[in-house]
Amino acid sequence: MRVPVRSALRSLWDAARPGKRWLRRIPAAVEIARSASVARLGSLGAQGLTFSQKALGAGDPSPSGHEMAVRSWTKCVPSLRLLGAVIRVLGSVIPCIWRGKYFSSGNVPAQNNRVTPMQRHLMYKIKSTGPITVAEYMKEVLTNPAKGYYVHHDMLGEKGDFITSPEISQIFGELIGIWFISEWIAAGKSAAFQLVELGPGRGTLTGDILRVFSQLGSVLKNCDISIHLVEVSQKLSEIQALTLTEEKIPLERNAESLVYMKGVSKSGIPISWYRNLQDVPKGYSFYLAHEFFDVLPVHKFQKTPQGWREVFIDIDPQISDKLRFVLAPCSTPAEAFIQQDETRDHIEVCPDAGVIIQELSQRIALTGGAALIADYGHDGTKTDTFRGFCGHKLHDVLTAPGTADLTADVDFRYLRKMAQEKVASLGPVEQKTFLKNMGIDVRLKVLLDKSDDPSMRQQLLQGYDMLMNPKKMGERFNFFALLPHQRLHGGNHQVNAQQTKPSASPVAGFDELTWR
Ligand code: SAH
Repeated sequence: MRVPVRSALRSLWDAARPGKRWLRRIPAAVEIARSASVARLGSLGAQGLTFSQKALGAGDPSPSGHEMAVRSWTKCVPSLRLLGAVIRVLGSVIPCIWRGKYFSSGNVPAQNNRVTPMQRHLMYKIKSTGPITVAEYMKEVLTNPAKGYYVHHDMLGEKGDFITSPEISQIFGELIGIWFISEWIAAGKSAAFQLVELGPGRGTLTGDILRVFSQLGSVLKNCDISIHLVEVSQKLSEIQALTLTEEKIPLERNAESLVYMKGVSKSGIPISWYRNLQDVPKGYSFYLAHEFFDVLPVHKFQKTPQGWREVFIDIDPQISDKLRFVLAPCSTPAEAFIQQDETRDHIEVCPDAGVIIQELSQRIALTGGAALIADYGHDGTKTDTFRGFCGHKLHDVLTAPGTADLTADVDFRYLRKMAQEKVASLGPVEQKTFLKNMGIDVRLKVLLDKSDDPSMRQQLLQGYDMLMNPKKMGERFNFFALLPHQRLHGGNHQVNAQQTKPSASPVAGFDELTWR
């Protein structure tokens, strides 16, 4: 039987005894609201929603503060040196080609001119082996084990550099939890599943999902659930453990192992931490990536009269402690990632995203499950989106590396291609549509009805507005899913012995949630 979303969710929330446990975070939030961290819900609204700047498309290039020049590399063959010289001449004749027409990164005044340890490290590297790709720059700046921005920072929240949907409203994670349960039911209620989150930040999203799983214990009863977190950041993994685990059960740590930490959630579910998706056991799994793909390293390419040329980062010869963009004078290996049918003249390609999508697709095709990916991005249309964030403000990507987040919009068309039809893909659909289909209005109403605290009601309404307003996060963020083909088209493929025949009911979020 299918029940329309309204009554389905009503009965779900009611079944979950909302009066006490659904609102568990709220009284705590009221308490903490006196401190800065939760007060952010109110203050962000008042401040003009600085969080959403991380999602702003950088699609309006304006004159760059960086001098775009082409440096000829001694390693290039002579004919390519000549080509480099031609490009150099072109660069000076038509400065707009090299000076910021295509790069957003120089739009922003430098906020911090000191040479950071990361910049010193990069400059040594460039001096010894030559200019580095934007991908290498991003990778080093964000995830270098010793100095990387993500490795030792807690950058999320009002005091950090940006804020994300799960940190804004508990409703976001609750609806994602419902999505996984809905998919688990639609695929035949397997006896066990793994929930795998890529880049879990503070663990807030998984925490909200686990609360939904506990509340819907009667639906999930006898299902053996385990949590698997893929996280490179030592600092954030500690925060995730604090958020998610039962403190009376000590964490098991082994830095040398592929599973570097283990714990048990407050509701008794085992949690394991990994640095790589490849290390997560293969098995029936639901995968989640929220604002994860946008931090993966991108290669940038500019179309020139001589063909595609990759953007590199070099030391500015005029100012010895300044970095600048340069164009490679010859073809580079990453050009292989440019699609044959590419029509843009500036592009960002993310091979790491392709590798992860292929891994997810293979796993889902083999063992079943689904992947839900939410991020800001485009469908193969945008050009220069590489940008930095520090203290909720745009930040010059080449200034004070290691002190700011670096990000680029996700190319969903590329993700779809990388799935290589091993699995079906859905979306991208805008966040406002996805959350509406998941029943955000019903959930908001239940929470408002249960709360008689005016400031809490205001926070709930502000959170809703941030998530749903087209000018805020409603249209900038997109949801994209990977599912086994038989999930969408029906069929009698058995993903494991315990499962019953999957059916082709609509996929929640991409369609209105129905409950069978
Ligand atoms: N999903 C969270 C956090 C987003 S920030 C939220 O929406 O609130 C990006 C997250 O990805 C951080 O947890 C960061 O440490 C992690 N991360 C970045 N690069 C990674 C990589 N290469 N492998 C695994 N995790 C990574």
